[in-house]
Amino acid sequence: MTQAVLTLNAGSSSLKVSLFPTTGDVPLASGLADRIGPEGTLRLKTAAGEAIAATGDLTSHAGALAAVIAGFRAAWPDLDLLAVGHRVVHGGADRARPVTVDAALLDDLARLAPFAPLHQPHNLAGIRTAMAAFPGVPQVACFDTAFHRSHPWVNDTFALPRALYDEGVRRYGFHGLSYDYIAGELARIAPHLAEGRVVVAHLGNGASMCGMTGGRSIASTMGFSALDGLPMGTRSGQVDPGVLLYLMDQKGMTPAEISDLLYKRSGLLGLSGLSNDMRELEAAGTPEAAEAIDYFVFRCQREIGSMAAAMGGMDALIFCGGIGENSRLVRTRICDRLGWMGIEIDPGRNAANAQVISSDMASTTVMVVPTNEELVIARAARAAVGLAEREAA
Ligand code: AMP
Repeated sequence: MTQAVLTLNAGSSSLKVSLFPTTGDVPLASGLADRIGPEGTLRLKTAAGEAIAATGDLTSHAGALAAVIAGFRAAWPDLDLLAVGHRVVHGGADRARPVTVDAALLDDLARLAPFAPLHQPHNLAGIRTAMAAFPGVPQVACFDTAFHRSHPWVNDTFALPRALYDEGVRRYGFHGLSYDYIAGELARIAPHLAEGRVVVAHLGNGASMCGMTGGRSIASTMGFSALDGLPMGTRSGQVDPGVLLYLMDQKGMTPAEISDLLYKRSGLLGLSGLSNDMRELEAAGTPEAAEAIDYFVFRCQREIGSMAAAMGGMDALIFCGGIGENSRLVRTRICDRLGWMGIEIDPGRNAANAQVISSDMASTTVMVVPTNEELVIARAARAAVGLAEREAA
């Protein structure tokens, strides 16, 4: 019998899946159903990188999940699925941990959809699809907001009338599964640093930073939505709210148009006019691409200072995410102007993508720690069926 847990990350037209054994960090298989609809594609592969044949109806999430499971069952005919873990963007003001799903929870999470309209409905549809496909199998919701529920009040609120805070207009913070993983890894590989003041820079297509002390989130650059803070592939990051008033009042833009502008046409893409992809911008060599990188680097430097101020200092800076884990250039550029914070990169270590990339002389340790959001979800799914301890949140 091949016992396993499944992790699902359902987007508007995609379904990211991993199948994990009951112990260990390496999935048996993973894959992506993309462009779900008439043009849908599905790719599954084993941990060794061998393709798993999988076809089916890719016009709906339910069809895609059925095709995924058929592929896995063909590869492991004795597959026994014990639990399914789901990435859910929003858990609300109080949920600081993963939760096993029931009907009441689903209703509650659906009420949060107005806070994350681009993600929450799809995440919940993914849960409903899996509940229908695997009746009786526990479904576990893992929230991107949960890790940040330890924010002190001053980092949880805006200076708006209190009634808005009470109805949920708060700085929730996101990328919590990634920060949860990094906190756990740091406690394992550098326990003395994990006890201290750490800035984690999750720099990928989505980008944010988290300031954590003793492994708990104190501050984050994302706030009410996953738009705030750093510029991202296509998202603006922080903008003066007055700009939004101008766009509405003077240019007559609708909420849908502004949403499209801020989520899909801004960030690296908007600044470069070329691409949302850092690798392409590094290779492009146009003035606009260079300026887009300049802006990204500058905002990262500012936010590292801001996170350090929120914590009263900084003992370590951790890079993760596609850019943080791979771009030697961006890491060097960000750290170049942070000597005043005790940061100094060792060029050889940085070029080698070593785990510790700071020089031995530096008072602040700089590390590259690849993140693993799927594993955090898998651990929560295992814990829900009594298989293993969940990493401390
Ligand atoms: P993620 O969303 O975490 O998968 O990160 C995607 C981002 O990482 C994209 O902007 C990629 O261009 C960037 N990225 C991945 N590998 C590299 C690399 N070797 N150099 C620069 N950027 C990279």
